[in-house]
Formats: sequence, structure tokens, C-alpha cells
Amino acid sequence: MVKGTPSLGKRNKVVHIRCRRCGHHSYHLRKRRCSYCGYPDPRWRRYNWIKSKKLLH
Ligand SMILES: [Zn+2]
Repeated sequence: MVKGTPSLGKRNKVVHIRCRRCGHHSYHLRKRRCSYCGYPDPRWRRYNWIKSKKLLH
């Protein structure tokens, strides 16, 4: 049952599952938080890097 690259890292551990809110496969089981939208935080995760320029004075 060994095909392709057999030992390209230990990928057996499931760290992220599918987030029920954003639908991305980014819900961290140990952190209990979605790395994409920030679930279960009430607000969606704010992306400060979008407005990292001088848009906001
Ligand atoms: Zn999410």
C-alpha cells in the first residue's frame, strides 16, 4: 500500500477538520478554533494585513 512518497512527513495526525461556519478545512481540534474564520469567535477573523497600508489614518 505504499505509493508515491511514503514518508513525506507524519501526516496521520488530524489537526484540522472542516469548519461548520466557513466550510474550510481549517478548524483546529486542539485549539478549538478555526484558523480561517476564527470560529467559534462571534465575529469573523479580521484580516489586518488587508489594510496594512495607509488606508486607515
Ligand atoms: Zn471557519
